[in-house]
Amino acid sequence: MADFVPRSRPLKRSEVKKLLSLLQERYPTLHPVRIERPKIIDGSDKSFGETEVRKFSGKTMLVIRVAAWLPYPADWMVLIHEYAHAMNWRPAHQENDEHHGPEWGLAEAKLWKIVGGD
Ligand SMILES: [Zn+2]
Repeated sequence: MADFVPRSRPLKRSEVKKLLSLLQERYPTLHPVRIERPKIIDGSDKSFGETEVRKFSGKTMLVIRVAAWLPYPADWMVLIHEYAHAMNWRPAHQENDEHHGPEWGLAEAKLWKIVGGD
């Protein structure tokens, strides 16, 4: 049984917060995760999401961006997709690492056990 079943509508801020604390507790990441919902990512209206490392007042964080315009259930899918990247983030993360390899796939599968049902 899933711990967090999304309703059939876009994510609310409070739900993103609740989901993030659940995920961080269950699947800790190299750095704490922050989720942003920008209107545009990388200057493109075709970019759904991304994960990157950024510093906020000296504190290193993994920033997950999910495009604000994504309709349900794409917003959920992109958030899970990106969190799986965050789970696999390693200190020596390189741009040319295998982004969607077996480790990432396994992480995403674990996350779907928490979100969305069996
Ligand atoms: Zn990806």
